[in-house]
Amino acid sequence: MQLQSRENTHPELALRRALHSAGFRFRVHRSIVPGVRRVVDIVFGPSKVAVFVDGCFWHGCPEHYRRPKVNGPYWNPKIARNAARDRDTDARLTEAGWQVIRIWEHEAVEDVVDRIANAVEKRRPVSRRRAANESRS
Ligand SMILES: [Zn+2]
Repeated sequence: MQLQSRENTHPELALRRALHSAGFRFRVHRSIVPGVRRVVDIVFGPSKVAVFVDGCFWHGCPEHYRRPKVNGPYWNPKIARNAARDRDTDARLTEAGWQVIRIWEHEAVEDVVDRIANAVEKRRPVSRRRAANESRS
């Protein structure tokens, strides 16, 4: 059973819009995690940066996750499993040479854009960096 669509949530769309208007190009919802069928929200291929926008409830945000009053025995282990799967996803990606950036849906878009931009620019292959600079001038 699919509990909710994790794709195209409002915080994710806002972030994609902000990245796009900052001049970044990327792919969305790619299955690039080695060995498992899991989808990365935002992918910067040449820089090998993988970004996830995690919902505060579904991924157990320390600031906002509250134990549901109803069906706690169902939800608590489920959220714990989600968090464990996230850590496993991070490990698989890191091992394959990716930098993983996880964003909470509650984070301010402008802070997040800076964090992602720094990572992407630092990891961008040199030839591409030069090409990007030339096309701008
Ligand atoms: Zn949160």
